[in-house]
Amino acid sequence: MRLIDTHAHLQGPEFNRDLEPVLARAVKAGVQLIINVGYDLNSSKRAIQLYRKYPMLPPAVGIHPHDAKTWSDEVESSLRRWAGSPHVVAIGEIGLDFYKDYSPRAQQLQVLEKQLQIAVDYRLPVILHVRNAYMDILNVLKNFPSLRGVMHAFSGSPAVADKFVSMGWHIGVGGVITFSNARKLQEVVQRIPLEYIVLETDAPFLTPHPYRGKRNEPSYLKFICQQLATILQRTPDEVAEITYLNAKRLFPRLRS
Ligand SMILES: [Zn+2]
Repeated sequence: MRLIDTHAHLQGPEFNRDLEPVLARAVKAGVQLIINVGYDLNSSKRAIQLYRKYPMLPPAVGIHPHDAKTWSDEVESSLRRWAGSPHVVAIGEIGLDFYKDYSPRAQQLQVLEKQLQIAVDYRLPVILHVRNAYMDILNVLKNFPSLRGVMHAFSGSPAVADKFVSMGWHIGVGGVITFSNARKLQEVVQRIPLEYIVLETDAPFLTPHPYRGKRNEPSYLKFICQQLATILQRTPDEVAEITYLNAKRLFPRLRS
């Protein structure tokens, strides 16, 4: 079995003390690559630094909607410089969060559009974080028809999932799929083609059953894969292989 964790944050303090055993457990569970996703300037820079030491951690760079208020010309020029490096595999995580509203909505929209333009300019896929703003994001994406990416931690309805898939976007499925009350997400994964699903842990967050409540880590991707296989009545090996190839297609800069 080979797996790609398309979304984790291993550059934070949660993994300062034991990153190497965490990576060893991931490898043992079949996880070959882990996209280490930035959410502000520092975490993006740190993701790039970690990649130099750990080639299984390709970085993504971006400013999370929570931090849209930190945007500046300097931030933009750093992101553009990094996007030009062949090791950076995506722009993210970026998006709209109208649930927590930590940054003003107008600024979230502005910073999102700036970063989508960077993705267009460097032909990079996008990792989107969207909460309570699916209609808003669809309106923005209409203006960027060439862009592709993943709706990370998707929590929308099956109808909304259909819309994204028809635009060529992928749905990121994580630990929530293992929760007994995840009826809506289970309907989503049954509705859309498996070719449009990628797996993700969002470690250290959103820990799957049976470790819910503890720190999440990429080796737990196997529980997500198993649960998806059960729902779709396929084997875990099939689900692993198809989603592995999906991630390779979506993120062309991932090395083999
Ligand atoms: Zn995340």
